[in-house]
Amino acid sequence: MRLILFGPPGAGKGTQAAALVDRYSIVHISTGDIFREHVGNATALGLQAKAYMDRGDLVPDRIVLDMVEDRLGKPDARDGFLLDGFPRTLAQVEALDDIVERNGHRLDGVIRLLVDEEELLSRLLQRAHEQGRADDTREVIANRLARYRSETEPAVARYRQRGILHDVDGEGDVAQVRDRVLAAAAAAEQAS
Ligand code: AMP
Repeated sequence: MRLILFGPPGAGKGTQAAALVDRYSIVHISTGDIFREHVGNATALGLQAKAYMDRGDLVPDRIVLDMVEDRLGKPDARDGFLLDGFPRTLAQVEALDDIVERNGHRLDGVIRLLVDEEELLSRLLQRAHEQGRADDTREVIANRLARYRSETEPAVARYRQRGILHDVDGEGDVAQVRDRVLAAAAAAEQAS
């Protein structure tokens, strides 16, 4: 199973990703988590990415793509994966197509969590309070939401055109959203 999980910051991607990887026994690849790990370990990649992340800007495609290509080449990603936070731009969509095709595979489905912007803002400010993530300040959050609208929504549209996009209502309690997400994944699996 090869899935992509889309959703604006604060939509609950991390939580729902856990349910999907559990159900399909696939590896969870979150580019945000990988970058945070590099920043934490002060690697060269982390140092390059940090300034963009701190502002809520996207890390440039060439940096992201090298990292993702490397990650998807690992043995644990051979039989399936869930991508979370990637692709985020049209260039990343195209690069992912290349990687998947080159390996003789195809994407089974794309799930997008839909959450109202006011709800997102309040969830993210709450998370800032609880976890103190550097990119969860009000100003940076606003920028991350704006980047999602301007750069990631057009990437999502590509998948809608291909007929593999499944929209899921991301509001309500976590278990309800999980049931909807799993139903969408099952529908994607059947259709592919
Ligand atoms: P996330 O945890 O997915 O919200 O990612 C945190 C930050 O990492 C983002 O605000 C970006 O700065 C960076 N990032 C993660 N994934 C990508 C990506 N696919 N393209 C560009 N930047 C990314």
